[in-house]
Amino acid sequence: MDSKDKLRKAGLRPTKQRMIIANILLDGVNRHFTAENLQDEINSSGNSMSIATVYNCLKKFRNCGLIKQIETSNDTAIFDTNTHQHHHFLNEETGELIDIEDDEINLKSLPKIPQGYYSNGVEVLIKLKKQD
Ligand SMILES: [Zn+2]
Repeated sequence: MDSKDKLRKAGLRPTKQRMIIANILLDGVNRHFTAENLQDEINSSGNSMSIATVYNCLKKFRNCGLIKQIETSNDTAIFDTNTHQHHHFLNEETGELIDIEDDEINLKSLPKIPQGYYSNGVEVLIKLKKQD
């Protein structure tokens, strides 16, 4: 399936900007990135896109489930092309995320889900600080 088909299948019209981003992000290689990282990559590939456009596209991609946004306490949003359930190490100094496979974490006891809700997934973020 090419990028155009992937966008259509996700319910997104394949505009020029979305195609540029899809060609970078949906190549089957998992990656964590910020909007700024992606903008650098777009610009160095000979295209140009404003950061606002990059953000808008990423929001659409996220809402359609093509990418995930990782919840960190950092101000900068970090996105992930691996949309399967998995966990992360977060290097607090560099902001780098490292994947942890879902079955590497064993959650023995979870609180009762509030009535009227169901769990839509559990994501663990292990924050790393360098030892002296
Ligand atoms: Zn990840």
